[in-house]
Amino acid sequence: MLGDSQTIAKPLSILYRGFLSSCNYACGYCPFAKHLETPAEHQRDAAALERFVQWVEARAAPTSVFFTPYGEALVRSRYQKAVQRLSRLPHLEKVVVQTNGSWGLDWLTGVNLQKLALWITFHPSETSIEKFVTRATLLLERGVRFSVGVVGIRENLEGIQNLRDQLPDSVYLWINAFDRRGRDYYTPDTLKRLIQIDPYFALNLERYPARGQDCHAGNSVISIDSYGIARRCHFIEMPIGNIYELEFEQQLKPKPCTRAVCDCHIGYVHLESLGLYDVFEGGILERIPKNWSIH
Ligand code: SF4
Ligand code: SF4
Repeated sequence: MLGDSQTIAKPLSILYRGFLSSCNYACGYCPFAKHLETPAEHQRDAAALERFVQWVEARAAPTSVFFTPYGEALVRSRYQKAVQRLSRLPHLEKVVVQTNGSWGLDWLTGVNLQKLALWITFHPSETSIEKFVTRATLLLERGVRFSVGVVGIRENLEGIQNLRDQLPDSVYLWINAFDRRGRDYYTPDTLKRLIQIDPYFALNLERYPARGQDCHAGNSVISIDSYGIARRCHFIEMPIGNIYELEFEQQLKPKPCTRAVCDCHIGYVHLESLGLYDVFEGGILERIPKNWSIH
C-alpha cells in the first residue's frame, strides 16, 4: 500500500531492525546473531526489506535510514542493493549502517557516497588490527564516511590503544563501556587512558535518568521492525503504530520518555536535555562528533 505513505510528510530518521539475525563473525560477547537462517527466512527478510525500501522511495519528506541489525547486513547483497537504492533518492538525507566492515568493496560503486555513513565496530577476536586498518584506509580513499568503535574491555586496553595509533587521525574511534558496567569496572588509570583515546568516552559511562525527559525518539526518530511496526526507540517495547498504515504520522509527537534509564548511544543521543545533537551535529546517527576531522 505505497499510497498510504504519501500522507506522511514529516522529516524522519528511521532505525530499521528486521528479521536478519545471522553474522559472518562469531564474537564471544555477542548476545545475538547466533542464528543460521534457512532459505525461507532469508526470503522473508528480503521481502520485508523490499517493502520498507519501496515505502521510503514513496515518501515525500526528508528521510534518514539507519540499519541496526541483530547481525551483519552488508555481507548480504539485498542490503547492499537497498543501500544503493536509498542513497540515490533525492529526499534521502543519509543512509547509515551498523556493520563489522568485513565485506567486499565492489558494491560501493553503486552507492551515492555523499549520503552513506557507516558505524563500523572492530571485533578483536575476528580480525587483526592490521587487516582492519587496511580496510578503513581503503574506505577513506573511496570517500566513505564512518566512525570506528570498540567495546572497552579492560584486558584489551593495549589493543584499543594500538587501534587508535594505527587508524588515521581523521577517523573517530569511540569506545563503549563494557557491558554497561560503568566507571566502577575501570581503575582510575584505565579510565584516564580510555578518555585520552576517546574524548567522548565519559558520555557512554553514564546511565541517564530518562523517565519524564523529553526525547526526539517518537517524534522525529523512530525504530521499526520487519512488519513496519514502529516504536519510539529500540528500548521501549510499546508500539506507536505501523508505518504502512494510513495516518501513521499523527502518532509522531513530542512526549516524555517512559523508561527509567537510557544508556546506549543510539538512544540517549536523542535525549533532549543532554544536548548531544550539538556535540554530534552532522553525525548523530553514525556517531561522529562535530568537526572531528580537524582533531
Ligand atoms: S560482528 Fe556484531 S553481530 Fe556479528 S557476531 Fe560480532 S557482535 Fe555479533
Ligand atoms: S530516552 Fe532513550 S529510552 Fe527514552 S525514548 Fe529516548 S531513546 Fe528511548
